[in-house]
Amino acid sequence: MADLRDLYQELVIDHSKRPRNFHKLEGANITAQGYNPLCGDRVTIYLKFENGRVQDIAFEGTGCAISTASTSMMTEAMKGKTKEEAEAAFERFHDLVTGVYPRQASDPPLGKLEVFCNVSDYPVRVKCATLAWHTLRSALEGTGDTISTE
Ligand code: ZN
Repeated sequence: MADLRDLYQELVIDHSKRPRNFHKLEGANITAQGYNPLCGDRVTIYLKFENGRVQDIAFEGTGCAISTASTSMMTEAMKGKTKEEAEAAFERFHDLVTGVYPRQASDPPLGKLEVFCNVSDYPVRVKCATLAWHTLRSALEGTGDTISTE
């Protein structure tokens, strides 16, 4: 197994320098904004949600390397997912960054998102890593408000 810490550094640097799906999304039917006052991270998530699935997803925003990389990797992971699958992935990702993942052996793997397990060593960074996910959930629940991690 590759050293997760090295892989984490590599992926965070790569995704923060060259974020994937980093643009306004034409044809988006849901947008949601998130803000992490602790660090100053801001993100806008654009979703094209049709036929019960995330058909497309993109984001814009400014923030630290961890929040940008986490948002970039979240958008890659969520394409094609149902609302329920996205909610379940959020729960597992939250468990991961708070150090309690996996709760049970049957929990489906998170793939390369698992590199974020290192964040559990830095509690102040948990909000940077989960901002995108909180914002995605608010988008899927259609609250439309700017969510804050505080
Ligand atoms: Zn941050």
